[in-house]
Amino acid sequence: MVSAIVGGNWGDEGKGKITDLMAGDADIIVRFQGGANAGHTIINEYGKFALHLLPSGVFRKGVTNVIGQGVAVNLEQLFKELDGLLDRGVPMPNILVSDRAQVVMPYHVLFDKLEEERLGKDSFGSTKSGIAPFYSDKYLKIGVQVSEMFDDETLIARLKRVCETKNETIKSLYGGQVTLEPNQLFNELVAYRERLKPMVTNIAYFLHDAIKEDKNILLEGQLGALKDTDNGIYPFVTSSSPLAGFATVGASVPPHAIKKVVTVVKAYSSAVGAGAFVSEIFDDEAHELRMRGGDGGEFGATTGRARRMGWFDCVASKYGCMLQGTTDVAFSLIDVLGYLDKIPVCVGYEIDGEVTTVFPNTIELNRAKPVLEYVDGWKCDLQGIRKYEDLPKEAQNYVEFVEKHLGFPITMISNGPKRDDIIIR
Ligand code: GDP
Ligand code: MG
Repeated sequence: MVSAIVGGNWGDEGKGKITDLMAGDADIIVRFQGGANAGHTIINEYGKFALHLLPSGVFRKGVTNVIGQGVAVNLEQLFKELDGLLDRGVPMPNILVSDRAQVVMPYHVLFDKLEEERLGKDSFGSTKSGIAPFYSDKYLKIGVQVSEMFDDETLIARLKRVCETKNETIKSLYGGQVTLEPNQLFNELVAYRERLKPMVTNIAYFLHDAIKEDKNILLEGQLGALKDTDNGIYPFVTSSSPLAGFATVGASVPPHAIKKVVTVVKAYSSAVGAGAFVSEIFDDEAHELRMRGGDGGEFGATTGRARRMGWFDCVASKYGCMLQGTTDVAFSLIDVLGYLDKIPVCVGYEIDGEVTTVFPNTIELNRAKPVLEYVDGWKCDLQGIRKYEDLPKEAQNYVEFVEKHLGFPITMISNGPKRDDIIIR
């Protein structure tokens, strides 16, 4: 069976933890989009890890970890991350990389930085890992596919062509001093060949065979629905689609094969980067939630940046669940809210004097004001509880309140950062 674990919000919903938990039953875990720009935090018997590029099955014996062609593969990052695991006693995982995946080049990272600097206060809040320039080049058809790394002639010709235009842009637009050298870039790439080669495969055939053999396959999304390039808060989106449906493209999984979509929805809101964030809170109120949030505070797993904070947003989360094709909601980080007497929840948007529960386009979103309702808090620590009936009445009420507004069933509740901090409902 093919299942997906994806984000219903702006990312950082705790997908890594849920994936790690569900990885116990999986044969194959697949990344199908994004790059090393976001991070999953996973805590298990080996310690605490931040994964950026590696699928979350790398800690499980017998699991095959697939990096699909929809992923932006930064080879330096990939091997750094892998070495980081091996150094800490994790056995060598089984990793496959699509021969059609494209590689993030040093100039993608450079251009991401140069452009964000050029934009100054109007910047996107990019993590500067080269993701937007990478995907732009892919669609400009000047990217480098993994298979091409093993063909000297194609590779050097591509790099020469790329350097011509990039060097011109560096000079004229950014007034930069750097000159990209095709041969140097070639040598950098070729240095990874030996380690990469045994991982490279045709993912379409691998996954179609695995589906025929009825293997358990888990699709692992990065970021969340509201960051989808087409359906999200454009232009403050990511440059690939974090929707479960995109696995048909990013990992060649047939659409009808995806039977279960677990959308992770966070019990409050957090976001990184710029853009409208209707239920956002500020100052002391935000600081308190940020410090209590996540596992030791809401700070980026990749960048260490303080995340923007807000109350739970029913409008955005419902839309996110809808886009994902949700069959199950995993409601995460509920334990964080134990300090509040009353928990504010955004149940609607007021736009030009009208209240709506429809998540609008960005132009209207910029004018939206949150309509808040207040739910009683439970004022105690929920960690350690394993049964739904054992949750305080107020916490059950919060879950049911949110479920009613979402219109999708909450079947899992995550009440702590560890693998077994979970309530199956
Ligand atoms: P992801 O990108 O969706 O995988 O989420 P992140 O790992 O970036 O952020 C989630 C943070 O919350 C991490 O620090 C997790 O260890 C932590 N976490 C996950 N689930 C829970 C939970 O139920 N309760 C608490 N307190 N922390 C959690
Ligand atoms: Mg994250």
